[in-house]
Amino acid sequence: MVVMEAQEMKRLLRSIANIEPDEIGCDTCFEVVDRFVEMELAGKEAAEALPLVKAHLNRCEACREEYRALYQAVKTMAEKDLEQDLTGPS
Ligand SMILES: [Zn+2]
Repeated sequence: MVVMEAQEMKRLLRSIANIEPDEIGCDTCFEVVDRFVEMELAGKEAAEALPLVKAHLNRCEACREEYRALYQAVKTMAEKDLEQDLTGPS
């Protein structure tokens, strides 16, 4: 079991080493950016879980704009939900 884990770790490290931070493109970023936003708003370490997305957002202004817009939209929606929970349905 320990040996298996070590081998798995080596395999993972090798595959990570082969991937440059700019490996994902805008298409991939666009596909996962909503998950990235959800994780951030849930207080999870999105940048750690999805480092390639974070790296792409740092590099790509178009996707950063997309990310910001989505972040605001989801946040606003979450706040509205919260308000409704507090005040009840009108
Ligand atoms: Zn991009």
